Amino acid sequence: DVVFRTKDLTKVYDTGQQKVHALAGVDLELYAGELVVLLGPSGSGKSTLLNILGGLDHATDGRVWFRDQELTGMGDRGLTRFRRDHVGFVFQFYNLVPSLTAWENVQLVTDVARDPMPPEEALKEVGLGSRMDHFPAEMSGGEQQRVAIARAIAKRPEILLCDEPTGALDSKTGVQVLEALRRINESTGTTTVVITHNAAIRQMAHRVIWFQDGKIRLVEENATRLAPA
Ligand code: ADP
Ligand code: ADP
Repeated sequence: DVVFRTKDLTKVYDTGQQKVHALAGVDLELYAGELVVLLGPSGSGKSTLLNILGGLDHATDGRVWFRDQELTGMGDRGLTRFRRDHVGFVFQFYNLVPSLTAWENVQLVTDVARDPMPPEEALKEVGLGSRMDHFPAEMSGGEQQRVAIARAIAKRPEILLCDEPTGALDSKTGVQVLEALRRINESTGTTTVVITHNAAIRQMAHRVIWFQDGKIRLVEENATRLAPA
């Protein structure tokens, strides 16, 4: 069951002085229920790919499909609807509203979603059932990131895209955040793509996709966690 398919996906940034080939022809299929990690050097195109899959950015060339919908060629309104209906995002910085509790931060999203889970359910999912009434300033970085994850999953997205969710955390706290992502992937079957430098992800992911110079260099299957077909 293929969720995303890309064909010769290309992204060129033209800064005026030079053209940067951030993606130089990427062919990829992501399967429903997979947890995939994107690895590779800084500047190899990982964020660019994540942004295009999530409808945050346009490709320069090539094609991307989400199920039978083609994202390439879709206008900004179409992409906005696609993001709203199907995608949860987690970034390096949590972007929580400081004046709202954890529960209220998640509720901001569930209020406007079509079929959300209750905020408390999303917070329990990330192990924060006992912290729902805390404000961001009363929580550790790892806890704040887990609130951000709860917020991302509360609308029951089909896809969860995480760009350096551990980037601001020490490695042990980072592992806890990745564990939360893995648990969610297991319990909800949400297709999850993660960019992280935390090595613990390699045992959790179904597949590791290595990037270099805007291309896929290697795809590794995790023998201990086989990908859904
Ligand atoms: P990462 O290595 O975590 O992807 P970067 O430092 O490469 O982070 O990029 C951070 C942000 O800056 C991204 O949003 C990216 O789109 C943007 N960016 C990266 N390189 C350039 C550049 N040469 N010109 C303008 N924006 C850039
Ligand atoms: P990664 O996530 O693997 O670190 P990125 O996708 O952020 O890589 O970047 C890929 C390449 O595209 C890099 O050379 C980066 O500098 C460039 N880039 C990213 N965003 C921009 C941007 N907004 N403008 C110009 N160049 C960019």
